Amino acid sequence: MKRLIDIPPASVVPMKDAVLQAMGVPAGQDQGARVERMVAAALEVFQSEAQPRGIVAEVDGDEFSSIYQGAGDNDSPSPLLNIFPRAEVLTLFAVTLGASLSERSSGLFDDGSLALAATLDAAASEGTELAGIHLDGIVLDGARTAGRADADSRILRYSPGYCGWNLTGQRALFAALGPEEIGIHLTESCLMEPVKSISGVMVTGPAEIHKFTDDYSFCSTCPTHDCRRRIKDLTRTRP
Ligand code: SF4
Repeated sequence: MKRLIDIPPASVVPMKDAVLQAMGVPAGQDQGARVERMVAAALEVFQSEAQPRGIVAEVDGDEFSSIYQGAGDNDSPSPLLNIFPRAEVLTLFAVTLGASLSERSSGLFDDGSLALAATLDAAASEGTELAGIHLDGIVLDGARTAGRADADSRILRYSPGYCGWNLTGQRALFAALGPEEIGIHLTESCLMEPVKSISGVMVTGPAEIHKFTDDYSFCSTCPTHDCRRRIKDLTRTRP
């Protein structure tokens, strides 16, 4: 069943240090009054414009297998191909901070207010992830309450465009989920508008199913190896 979720705006406002780190500034480094004012100004714009919303829909393994297959452009093998058959719950999701924030950010770039625009962009990226984390909590709590996941279960999100799941997979995902209902649209090239949106599948299950070695064919060109951090974070108790 599909579910639309209004996310409390206060839950997606990033911390000042998180914004600075997203801009490449090391944690704890004194940036001076000018940068402090810039971040404060960006967060003020963020809070006035962000309209976070999410949509989720549970699918079974066969349904997700068909969605994941998409147009047949994925790399194989891939981490998700091995992970999703062992999930306790599979949940399609999309989340966005809304069009207003993106339009304001674009306007600042167009006006030449580059420092504020770049700071707002960093804040919006952090805020989008916080919106995803908010959905994680709702989905995992729901699975636990329903007795379909336990205290040791963990939830991780996987998205088209990453780790072997071809970006064209967005088409099958959107056809099944309908994120247009919360204002997210797909371009011809499978990018999302508003840009500050995330989509994919949430995989709920024992922490072990999410663990793998980063030696897939596409890993050699991966700029971040972010899966290492995600797997390490599985030791957290929440979510
Ligand atoms: S190394 Fe990069 S591409 Fe490979 S699984 Fe990890 S995050 Fe994905």
